[in-house]
Amino acid sequence: MIGAAMVVGGGISGMQAALDLADSGYFVYLVEKTGAIGGAMPQYNKVFPTNDCAMCIIAPKLVECGRHPNIRIMTLSSVIDVKGKAGNFTVRVRENPRYVDPTKCIACGQCGELCPQSVDDSFNSNIIKRKAIFIKYPQAVPLKYQIDAQACLRLNQPGKCGVCAEICPPGAINFDDAEREYELQVGAVVMALGFQTFDPTKAKAWGYGVYPNVITSLQFERYLAPNGPTDGILNRPSDGKPIKKIAFLQCVGSRDKNRCNNEYCSSVCCMYAIKEAIMVKEANPDLDVSIYYMDMRTPGKEFDRYFERARNQYGVKFIRSRIHGVEPKGQKGDLLLHYSSMQGKQVEEVVDLVVLSVGLETPDSMVRLAEKIGIHMTPDRFASISAFMPVHTSKKGVFTCGAFNGPRDIPQSVIGGSAAAASVSVSLDPVRHTMTRTLPPPVQQDVGLQEPRIGVFICHCGTNIAGVVDVKEVAAFAATLPQVVHVARNLFTCAQDTQD
Ligand code: SF4
Ligand code: SF4
Repeated sequence: MIGAAMVVGGGISGMQAALDLADSGYFVYLVEKTGAIGGAMPQYNKVFPTNDCAMCIIAPKLVECGRHPNIRIMTLSSVIDVKGKAGNFTVRVRENPRYVDPTKCIACGQCGELCPQSVDDSFNSNIIKRKAIFIKYPQAVPLKYQIDAQACLRLNQPGKCGVCAEICPPGAINFDDAEREYELQVGAVVMALGFQTFDPTKAKAWGYGVYPNVITSLQFERYLAPNGPTDGILNRPSDGKPIKKIAFLQCVGSRDKNRCNNEYCSSVCCMYAIKEAIMVKEANPDLDVSIYYMDMRTPGKEFDRYFERARNQYGVKFIRSRIHGVEPKGQKGDLLLHYSSMQGKQVEEVVDLVVLSVGLETPDSMVRLAEKIGIHMTPDRFASISAFMPVHTSKKGVFTCGAFNGPRDIPQSVIGGSAAAASVSVSLDPVRHTMTRTLPPPVQQDVGLQEPRIGVFICHCGTNIAGVVDVKEVAAFAATLPQVVHVARNLFTCAQDTQD
């Protein structure tokens, strides 16, 4: 038996599983296919039903994963094969080149400013561009730049560009970086593979990709985010004009055999649409916001109260109907919806913006990996689990959590991560603490008779704090207080590099 586990997928569920396992006496390989852990959650502005800042919740976990002596984060990496049996697996992991030496990069960002190549920024739902050399998001863990091999001039045409290598202060750029493969021994595997959102271009009726004022809920989330492409200011994508009327269309890519071939309920879309409607009404109370739905599915703790608040306190309209499609209205970017009301009347509405509440599904690559490993999947392409063994896959020693088990929200994903870790912990109990490292405790000194020396660190948090508080003034004031010997202003105090 091996006292180490592999968690595949660095989203919130995988991070929780990794942290619980590492704290319980197991060494953890946390394998993430992109350049940084965090999954989808850093893209969200707020979380329901508390409307807390998503980044404020996930950032401490990101930092903890990054600093934990018993978690090895493997970014840009994918599992290609799992051999062996419960208690002793050999896992082959392929790591793609970063082209930036992470031991040297100090995330100064100079390369990104000068890089001439721009491509769609998937973190911002392709609303804006990013450079060929980039970090996934500002608080990324690890906070190390990476080069997009598809977009980089130098990697595609030797002899061209190379500006980043010329200006990088610590000389971190390595155009000769290459793919690596590892064979790792672990006692258990946790599949926390996550999800992708439904691609609404698959059904023409919604007009996504045709009419610029039809956007997805994830794009809407980025428009609302203070660190998003428009600094949290929402205007019509087509002409930048103020929006007066918004329609959310539910069940896009869910509960619909004909248009999307997904018959299941994606379970999170009702709640995130309510949240987005509340957010936009809080910022603009005069907006006309309607949610077109089949059933509001709000089964979690405090969820129904949240729905009632949206309706009664914020004035969000809930219209029970099935919208069949979106059409243009005139030349100015307006959109026409028509539907049958509950009274059987034909109704037409003209709106400025349509937000498609897209469902969740499992990407093909994850289904292929599951099949290769021998994990049974449901006809809806989620891991097949039982109600009584909700984190056990059909293969002994391979566990699962998060949206790979079926669509679920953040709290359910965190619970699943902990449940998977607990099951691994039970199965590997005889070899607990055999692979972990313990860091020596910090050297202690007697400060009993010394003057207190206070350091004050004031965070901007993008615009979350600096948009409300005059951070510079507060820092200047703090410096005048007794026993304050150091004052600093940080951009993201919760980010690992700031804490380092
Ligand atoms: Fe990292 Fe070099 Fe880019 Fe600075 S210039 S962010 S050190 S790769
Ligand atoms: Fe950008 Fe590539 Fe040029 Fe570097 S070499 S500046 S990543 S295009």
